[in-house]
Amino acid sequence: MAKVRVRFAPSPTGGIHLGGVRTVLYNYLFARHHGGDFVLRIEDTDQSRFVAGAEEYIQECLQWCGLVPDESPVHGGEYGPYRQSERKAMYRQYAEKLVAEGKAYYAFDTPEELEEMRNTFKTEEHPSPQYDHRLREKMRNSLTLGADEVNRLISEGVPYVIRIKMPDNETVSFTDMIRGEVSFNTSNVDDKVLLKADGMPTYHLAVVVDDYLMKITHAFRGEEWLPSAPVHLLLWKYLGWENSMPQWAHLPLILKPDGNGKLSKRDGERLGFPVFAMNWTDPRTNEFTQGFRERGFLPEAFVNMLAMLGWNDGSGQELFTIEELVKNFSMERVHKGGAKFDFEKAKWFNHEWIKRSTNERLLPLVKQALVNAGISVKDDSYLLQVIGMVKERCTLVPDFVEQSKFFFQAPEVLDIDSIKPKWNPDKNNFFKELAEKWGAQAEWTAPAIEASFKDLATAHSIKVGELQLPFRIMLVGGKFGPAVFDIAAAIGKEATIARIQHGLSLL
Ligand code: GLU
Repeated sequence: MAKVRVRFAPSPTGGIHLGGVRTVLYNYLFARHHGGDFVLRIEDTDQSRFVAGAEEYIQECLQWCGLVPDESPVHGGEYGPYRQSERKAMYRQYAEKLVAEGKAYYAFDTPEELEEMRNTFKTEEHPSPQYDHRLREKMRNSLTLGADEVNRLISEGVPYVIRIKMPDNETVSFTDMIRGEVSFNTSNVDDKVLLKADGMPTYHLAVVVDDYLMKITHAFRGEEWLPSAPVHLLLWKYLGWENSMPQWAHLPLILKPDGNGKLSKRDGERLGFPVFAMNWTDPRTNEFTQGFRERGFLPEAFVNMLAMLGWNDGSGQELFTIEELVKNFSMERVHKGGAKFDFEKAKWFNHEWIKRSTNERLLPLVKQALVNAGISVKDDSYLLQVIGMVKERCTLVPDFVEQSKFFFQAPEVLDIDSIKPKWNPDKNNFFKELAEKWGAQAEWTAPAIEASFKDLATAHSIKVGELQLPFRIMLVGGKFGPAVFDIAAAIGKEATIARIQHGLSLL
């Protein structure tokens, strides 16, 4: 069997939707599972849709997710160039070959003529007439004009496109790895443009030529490309490459959490969650779209969550490392139906991944989050200790700020209201004495602090339970955080005493 070669073939038109990252992921997992190659090909033949920065975004996104291609415009490879715009010269010969064999034709219609065609032939039965077997005879193309006229137009430099001549009423079919046998009647498919007037191929021609030249064995893409499949099938056949055609899988859509239909950027805005992998600002409109990365997702969690949106290994396991995914993934276990996106579930994955990550893994991310919040971290080993104490409580990376701020600075505001109702002179005396006692305390470890606290509570005949909450509020500011004696041990003797004294001054 030929070496497995798969490709992710995005058009660089903006940020990547999570469905796009899932396509990358399934390609990557399949390639790694089979010891094959994973190619990134940039499909940028539509120059009117060029967006500055979009290709860099794609590269960075793959890097962030750890789904790095073996071949790409930046990694190079044997089958380059990997940007279709740089392969422009390769495509024309195939389109011309099809014209010569009567499977495609030149079309000279101007945009105005096409518009007129749509208006003139609109009927109830065909509300949006297409350039197809019904109408091609009525248009200006090499099927209707004489050879001399065609040659004259071409030699005069009149712009033309090359269109595929779709057969009327033929059934074409293929076996999709997820959906099984899929067939189409060609009568409903228009004569798609293969080569544009500027000499650039359209997506349809380029995807077939490149999948062939790049020896792609399996092509996985979103379900929205299924309607294009009959055109591609015929191109593979007409170009005489049928035996090299990749096996296809059309991946199910990722659906809105509420209602039906594909999850869109707008749904994310409406419901308050990211839909793109990373932040993206459209340079044409300045429109900003938030990303999972900046929202505080770990790439491990993001990738794990995406893997499960449409696939499982049948065992009920949900948490997988990328190595485990590579080992267990199979296209046959991808569901046919769309998967509803659930942001709460996405957060659950992140929480689980934060808990299982080492403190060292989290360090740079947490440090950055703290720095962004204006908290400077001087001692990495101290931060590692803090991360270990609070990570259970953090779902998204920015949660570390709230959960660990008080390890670095005294809380600005204390929730005094939750102490006040039960406060009394005995408690006041207890804390005053505690501060004095601790000033002279030599051993500053959590067990020693706890023992000393409890001894003094017994001496004052106050229940320890009644003293811990005020103590926590003095140290942390509110009713949260890890074990209070661990906090005192971590922040140190001086800071602990200072926070008790400050608390007392407010009570
Ligand atoms: N360029 C297409 C896209 O932007 C690729 C579709 C395919 O993989 O065939 O999604």
